[in-house]
Amino acid sequence: MPKKSQPGGSTVESLSTKQPKHTTKKATSKRTSKAAKESVRDQAYYDAVNYWDKVKESVLHDTITSRESAVPPRAANPRSPEGKEWWDVNGIEMVANWIRFREYGNWKIAMINGAPAVEIELQVPVGNTFIKMAIDRVMIDDKGNYCIVDLKTGRRVPESTLQLGFYRYGLKKVFGIDVNIGYYWMARQATMTDGIDLSDYTEEKIEYLVTAFDNARKAHSFIPNTSNCKMCGYTMHCIWYKGEDKK
Ligand code: SF4
Repeated sequence: MPKKSQPGGSTVESLSTKQPKHTTKKATSKRTSKAAKESVRDQAYYDAVNYWDKVKESVLHDTITSRESAVPPRAANPRSPEGKEWWDVNGIEMVANWIRFREYGNWKIAMINGAPAVEIELQVPVGNTFIKMAIDRVMIDDKGNYCIVDLKTGRRVPESTLQLGFYRYGLKKVFGIDVNIGYYWMARQATMTDGIDLSDYTEEKIEYLVTAFDNARKAHSFIPNTSNCKMCGYTMHCIWYKGEDKK
């Protein structure tokens, strides 16, 4: 891991100018490009490295412990080529992207009941069942609007915005606040999507959906949706999955 250093400080300079003896042209060019990349590292990058180092072990430990007590451990996406090594490098970049956004942007974390609206875990009753949710952020955007922000580390923006609709429902039911704009923060690209109008996700629609799913669950009526199997962690139990990697 790089040592903490101010951008342009001695660590960065030594990386960008030092040339080893007996290097081929190709090796030199590769090293120069790595050095050029290092030279544009900013404070956010080093803050992210430090933060990542601090939390990584405890996050991994908590994740493994909770999974051991619940279900057999598995990767979030078992078919992803992005393993631990990939995340050790790119995870830092994603954290740094978020730090830069928070540092240099003019969005603010909203306060709810006197506390910052970060990682809000709710269990919202609907009829005889509960909807569990964890809302990444409620923020005040650059136009001064309260909004729901979901942090995404995947490649693609979700096709459905229903998840945000559920968050709107939860915030209204539990705190009595109506937040009808949502965003996805795409950590790989360091971009916020355009604002998404959530006003069409009314209480009536969300309650209809939950009740219908609950009735289907009780009747053991499960309709497979094979359009998204690549992201599914239950393929080994599912008779509908036909991929070669099924175990
Ligand atoms: S593998 Fe089965 S459970 Fe998973 S998404 Fe596909 S159809 Fe649904």
